[in-house]
Amino acid sequence: MTRKILLEEHEIPEQWYNIVADMPNKPLPPLHPATKQPIGPDALAPLFPMELIKQEVSTDKWIPIPEEVREVYKIWRPTPLYRAYGLEKALDTPAKIYYKYEGVSPSGSHKPNTAVAQAYYNMKEGVKRITTETGAGQWGSALSFACQLFGIECEVYMVKISYHQKPYRKIMMNTWGAKVFASPTDLTQAGRQILGKDPNSPGSLGIAISEAVERAASDDATKYALGSVLNHVLTHQTVIGLEALTQMEKAGDLPDIVVAPFGGGSNFAGISFPFLRLNLEEGKKIRCIASEPASCPKLTRGEFRYDFGDTVGMTPLLPMFTLGHNFVPAPIHAGGLRYHGAGVIVSQLLKDQLIEARAHHQLECFEAGVQFAKAEGIIPAPEANHGIATVIAEAKRCKEEGTSKTILFNLCGHGNFDMSAYENYFEGKLQEHELTKEEITASLAELDTPTI
Ligand SMILES: *Cc1c(COP(=O)(O)O)cnc(C)c1O
Repeated sequence: MTRKILLEEHEIPEQWYNIVADMPNKPLPPLHPATKQPIGPDALAPLFPMELIKQEVSTDKWIPIPEEVREVYKIWRPTPLYRAYGLEKALDTPAKIYYKYEGVSPSGSHKPNTAVAQAYYNMKEGVKRITTETGAGQWGSALSFACQLFGIECEVYMVKISYHQKPYRKIMMNTWGAKVFASPTDLTQAGRQILGKDPNSPGSLGIAISEAVERAASDDATKYALGSVLNHVLTHQTVIGLEALTQMEKAGDLPDIVVAPFGGGSNFAGISFPFLRLNLEEGKKIRCIASEPASCPKLTRGEFRYDFGDTVGMTPLLPMFTLGHNFVPAPIHAGGLRYHGAGVIVSQLLKDQLIEARAHHQLECFEAGVQFAKAEGIIPAPEANHGIATVIAEAKRCKEEGTSKTILFNLCGHGNFDMSAYENYFEGKLQEHELTKEEITASLAELDTPTI
């Protein structure tokens, strides 16, 4: 009974997989926020290094992983793949359940897979400083770790309310040498404008993005980095699924269903795209399911149209499933899933019915996470609990139908910094939150962005 399927260092993939090459319908182009005309790669040059812009628009199927990046990956990669015998037993299901564990990275989630790559390309192009925003702190800590390795300064705009509520993530970032500011700050025009109106503003991800982008746009040696949504970020994360495919082969198995939680789409893309390749290339029928919160259901209840990536409306318009850029999700405890839109590639795949999506309520997710922790030991990040809720539902269906399916899911991070969320759950303080149809219609009605 092999519980853990491991790979050797030399089995870390040498290329990332770019699914755009295999998509039957290619993603629609981004549009200029003011003229609403398609923009070329040059428009992104003030914010990102050229190599990442090339990857963003690339149609090459395979993108080489630089040796220096693979060297850093060796700190925690290849990550283990587990057979969840404990969970299978607890559910008394005929289904076989496997999970890929990304919580073994230095910052505890999948995010360093792209942070290291992004910091590397910035270093190669002489960038001195990278700015970014962070909500709960997972992205900020991954980027702080990565920048430190390549001698780049890292400046993180952390939403003020999280800065005060989640001090440990901030201290992690400081340990890796990053400067962390409680946003809104008085260091940027965007921040000063908000503080002028409300000196006690708790901040928001939208404001923090505006501050980080403004800093990067106004200094040649400074660039900006994003931890999800963009095509190059999704591509970097495919290292997860490429390893998992080799590990499943070693286990003599192939999944019928692949599941991952969904915020902007990077960890879902990471585990599922290498399996979707088998559907697109060989006609296999592996179902890939993205799991989102019922309180922020862009995939299951949003609209496919052009929308801004940020709240303020500074970014290019992207063709995506969205709830509207003014949408403010309820303060649920899965901070990483509170984003109004979905990445462009994943949105097109969903539109074309090549992937599926499920929404789960918060209490169902924590119940699933606690059941998983008791059966398997690892305490999942609250985001990951959404994927686990889908897995448990599918495994229960196997039991009812008397069929055996093989299910693989991405345990994208551990929850060791999220004890207050678990505490609230145990004390009965977590509330269900489901959006009404009227709320969604109202948020979408505010948009004057192009429909598709
Ligand atoms: C950031 C984050 C997410 C959500 O982002 P995706 O781009 O959708 O992966 C989910 N889980 C964890 C642990 C995260 O840190």
